[in-house]
Order: sequence, then structure tokens, then C-alpha cells
Amino acid sequence: MSKLFGTSGIRGVVNVEIEPSLALRVGLGIATHLGNSGEVVIGRDTRVSGEMIECAVISGLLAGGCDVIKVGVVPTPVLAFGTRKLGASAGVMITASHNPPEYNGIKCWDEEGAAFTPESEEALEKKIDEAKVVEWRRIGKIREKEIALQYEEWAKDLFPLEREHEVIIDCGNGAACSVTPHLLREMGCKVTSLNSHPDGLFPGRGLEPTPEHLQDLAKIVRSTGAEVGLAHDGDADRIAAIDDRGRFVPQDKLLALISTYLVERGEIMVTTVDASRVVEDFIEKKGGKVVRTKVGDVSVAQTLRKTGGKFGGEPSGSWIFPNAHLAPDGLLSAIMILRMLDATGKRLSELVEEVPEYPILRKKIPCPQERKPEVMKNFLTRVKTELRRVSEIQTVDGVRTVFDDGSWVLVRPSGTEPYIRITSEAHERKIAEERIDMALKLLK
Ligand code: MG
Repeated sequence: MSKLFGTSGIRGVVNVEIEPSLALRVGLGIATHLGNSGEVVIGRDTRVSGEMIECAVISGLLAGGCDVIKVGVVPTPVLAFGTRKLGASAGVMITASHNPPEYNGIKCWDEEGAAFTPESEEALEKKIDEAKVVEWRRIGKIREKEIALQYEEWAKDLFPLEREHEVIIDCGNGAACSVTPHLLREMGCKVTSLNSHPDGLFPGRGLEPTPEHLQDLAKIVRSTGAEVGLAHDGDADRIAAIDDRGRFVPQDKLLALISTYLVERGEIMVTTVDASRVVEDFIEKKGGKVVRTKVGDVSVAQTLRKTGGKFGGEPSGSWIFPNAHLAPDGLLSAIMILRMLDATGKRLSELVEEVPEYPILRKKIPCPQERKPEVMKNFLTRVKTELRRVSEIQTVDGVRTVFDDGSWVLVRPSGTEPYIRITSEAHERKIAEERIDMALKLLK
């Protein structure tokens, strides 16, 4: 298991865990990993620390003999697109996604625009330890490139819309500010943007697109009578939606709807261990198959690659469309929701009402990084010895305990933050709550 990389690249509090000397070593490590040659595309989100970390990574890349293409502030999926489009050897995105403003991170992308796998991260980490600078003549060069407009052209052609939609978009002052509102307008939508000026202090709202953070968006959708409200996390690889009645659409329901729209009979959809059973119920009714994998977009992307799946999505709102690319893409997700409205001819609120409510509860408790393995080991032992009416214990990712009545509880350490996350689902809310309480008791 690698030391630096979590479930989504390297991430931590800036100038505490992630500081310039580390970023420089990572840059040099990437260059060494690439054989001290080739081009690397680098982009960042709107965080205050973005340029500082970017400069340090670039320094390392140049010192290691790689040329650098700077694409500036862009959403993560645009960086992934650019890496492939520009024929670069790798891409580097400076972002901490939905984490608070004091965080930042480094995420690497391969030449096909897919996130580095744990295996390539491990190989890279070894190179970081033994990285070497090149002779002065071979130091790399920097050039700048505009990539967002090329991305917009590509997205428009790939997934066109049939009619005008009235959309409110909330970019959370993050990386999508200059792309999503413009793209949707170019596609013929009537767009009102909210929190769509870049600001690394993120004054508009919390970066995770949760119901609590999207209350302003919901109010504006209600007061304007718009068709839909859409929101991204900080680097726009995720989507969340508010329906035409101003209600937050639960992520599991949205995932079930979009999967059903996209996946045909005999096709595969990939989701993670923490998603609701409603996804299976919907896909299987249509004759498709669901494959469950570890939490995190990297696992989803790799499973899509292996299975040839049609669509992959997580209840975090991170969705992958493999016939476009293997990067989770909040912008294509926004378009896909509108296309679903086109295809069904229904309002989003009508579609949401067709999805049954399976109470699913999520909780997180603080746990320091270093204590996680011991806590999880003890928890698994207690689950095995103390719980009754258990039909299955899955350890694909964390510990997922399935009970005889079909309810389940998943306990897994967060890969990016000092928390242990607990998810439970049952036919009744009361049972789901009981499962959470029971897990909490066993964890203590
Ligand atoms: Mg993100």
C-alpha cells in the first residue's frame, strides 16, 4: 500500500501535509516515471494554494526533463480530456475536489485521460523516492494552451440537446465557473449562474454538493420556476440536481434514473458498494446488470475498462461515461440530465417520484489516519462474533454487512479525510437508524 496516495491522489492540508517541497518531489517523480521525457499537461482548481503547488510541481517536472503544457484553471474532466487531446504522456490536476478550502491535492492522469490506478501510483511513488534531475541542457520547457473551448466543442458534438432548457447552475466558486455556464448557453440553454465567479475562499457555499449546501440554489429554482438546478463540487467531476419543484434529488435516485436512461438490455452498469439497492432494482428490471466495486472513481473507471460497462456512477454524484472518456465528468453529467429530460419528455420531479424511497442514511465519525487499520480490524472481528441474522459479510471495501431482511450497513475508512464513514439502508428508516447505531456501538 502506498504512503502518499489515497483513494483520489495525494491530498491534505496545505503547508501542513501538502507543501511545495513535497509537490516538487512529486513533479520530479512523475518526470522520472515517464522516463525523463515527454509532455505533461497541468491544470488546477480555484484554491488559494493552487498556483503555489502548481509552480512546485512544474519545477519538478522541468528539472526531471519533461515539457509542461499549462492549461490554467479548469475542471478536472477538462484536464483529463486535454491530456488525451494534446497527446501528452500524462496529466496532473492540482485539486482537493470537495474538501474544505485549506486542502489541496495532486491527482495524476494517464495518456488516455484515465486516473492513475493504485498500481501506477505505487510505481510512481517508488520513482519519487529515487527521482533524479537531468543535465542542464535537457531541462524541460513550458507552454500555455487554451483547452476549455476545445472541450466544449467536443462535448456539444458528443451529447447534443434537442431543445432549450431553463437551468440554474451553481459552480460553488470552483473550477467550472468559466466552463459549465458558457457550455450550456452555447448548447442553447437559458442559464442563470450562481456562485460562478472563481474564488479560492469559496464564500458561496460548502464544496460538497449536499442538500445543506444547495439551499440557495433550491430557493432560486423555486422562485424562478426553472426546469432544473445543477451543481458541481470544487473541481466539477461531480453533479447534484434540484428538481423543478426546488427539491434536492437524492443522489441514489438520480443515479438510478440516469443509469436506467443509459443502460440497455444486456449491458453493464458499474457502481460502488455504498450505493442503494434501488440501482439494481431499476437496472435489472430493464435487463441490465450491475457490477459493484470499491468506493472511488478510480475503481469505477478500472471496472468499466475491464467489463466494457456502458456507464459508471457513485452516490457521491461522480459519473463516468466510457464512450466519452474514463474521467468522472460533472459537465457531461449536467448535459446527460438534460438529455434524459429530452428523451423522457417528463419533468425531473415526475421522474424522481417514480423511484421508490429506500431510506439510506450516511454518517461519519472522526478517526485519525493511523488508527484506521486497527479500528477496522477490531470492527470486523466484532461483526463476525457479535452480530446475528447476518446473511453476508463483504470486504470488497471496508466491511459491508448484509442482514437476512435485505438491509445492510457499510463501515469504511475515508480514503481522503480523517473519518470513518457509515452507510446503512433498509426498507424502513427505523431499521436503517438501528443499523447505524449498532455499527457505532461496535466501533467504539
Ligand atoms: Mg471532485
